[in-house]
Amino acid sequence: MTQGTRAVIVICDSLRADLITPGDTPFLVELSERAVRFAAHRSVFPSTTRASAASIATGCRPARHGLLGNTMALDEGEGLVCRSAGHPEFPDRLRRATGCTLQVPTLAERLRWHGEISISCANVSPGAAYFQDPDGHGWVYHAAGSYGPGRQPVDDPASRALTKGIAGDRAMTDRFCAEILEERAPSLAIMWLSEPDYTGHHAPLGSPEHRAAIAGADQCARQVFETVRRLDPSGNDILFIAGSDHGMETVTRTVDLDALLVGAGLKRAPQSRDVVVAPNGTAATLYFAEPEGDLVARVARFLAAEDWVGEVFVGDRLRAVGLPTNTAMRVAVTLAGEDRDNPHGIRGCSPIVQDPADNESKIGFGQHGGLGPNEQRPFLMIEGGGFVPGPRHEPTSLVDIAPTVLRHLHMDHDDMDGRALPRQL
Ligand SMILES: [Zn+2]
Repeated sequence: MTQGTRAVIVICDSLRADLITPGDTPFLVELSERAVRFAAHRSVFPSTTRASAASIATGCRPARHGLLGNTMALDEGEGLVCRSAGHPEFPDRLRRATGCTLQVPTLAERLRWHGEISISCANVSPGAAYFQDPDGHGWVYHAAGSYGPGRQPVDDPASRALTKGIAGDRAMTDRFCAEILEERAPSLAIMWLSEPDYTGHHAPLGSPEHRAAIAGADQCARQVFETVRRLDPSGNDILFIAGSDHGMETVTRTVDLDALLVGAGLKRAPQSRDVVVAPNGTAATLYFAEPEGDLVARVARFLAAEDWVGEVFVGDRLRAVGLPTNTAMRVAVTLAGEDRDNPHGIRGCSPIVQDPADNESKIGFGQHGGLGPNEQRPFLMIEGGGFVPGPRHEPTSLVDIAPTVLRHLHMDHDDMDGRALPRQL
């Protein structure tokens, strides 16, 4: 690595590329003119924060990194049980069930191979924060617990005090700029904002509350960018990346998939372990106690005939959407979206699969997880590091971020699903 070469990433969770407007996001509009804007940028599947965090960290799709969504069914010795990957203890459960956390190295681990340090600050779920660096190669700051190298707990009252929402995001941004970017100056610094995801899940998309959250995230991104360019006005040393992990669709109704399977005689009982549904918002993955059994095809046939299902992925078709073909997860569905406006003029609606662990109504609010056109519309802008400004239309994905960072840091990056993005057309 060349002395002074660094990368800084800001993620505005859930910010749809088409909601970047001069009124709500003056900074991102300004940045899109001086940076490269990747106009055909896509998320992974399921388009959930935790799977996305692991894909940004590893440069690989879920098929290779192994975190298959916001929820996953794990067999820790007593049969398959659906678990939230957002829970702080989930990485330990995953290790018990599979022998490891993520199955490929993260940016934090790769930097450590070169004696370099990464620091991550996140105001999202503990799972999403920890999957940036689940094995403790660098530093991770989060309200549920902060860790240094070796996963040594760090007493960090500033992170402990953070709450989701714009006030917490602002406090995290102040600390990220002053302490992490200016003083500690790690080779890689990542800041993951809770907004506009947090408000988007609790208010209609495009409502005054949602737009205020988008504006708040824009201000946080501006503060980081201004700090970065004060430290490196030339843009040669510090690569600046701003993006989101996925977009959102408006929820129209909730589908109780467990009840439907039981009713169709395909599952013994709502809590049974023969086939286990892992709800992932506008998508679901299904795990089978007997992955080679004939129940897999029967369930897939049943789902294909349901009007709320958009597409069913089974067998080799799982590979085409970046999912593994050799685990207990054998069927994935993305729900059937509708191309119409919500009451605030925001395009795109979809049903969701009910999560038995979460009884709050989601109807009319934002959600994601599937392959809908609006949830698959995150944004990506890159400035500095030799990137030639302007809009670019070639398809890009979350998995392209890690190799782009590693190339900037002069490190190997040819064993990932993504590719280092060309600096010019
Ligand atoms: Zn997210």
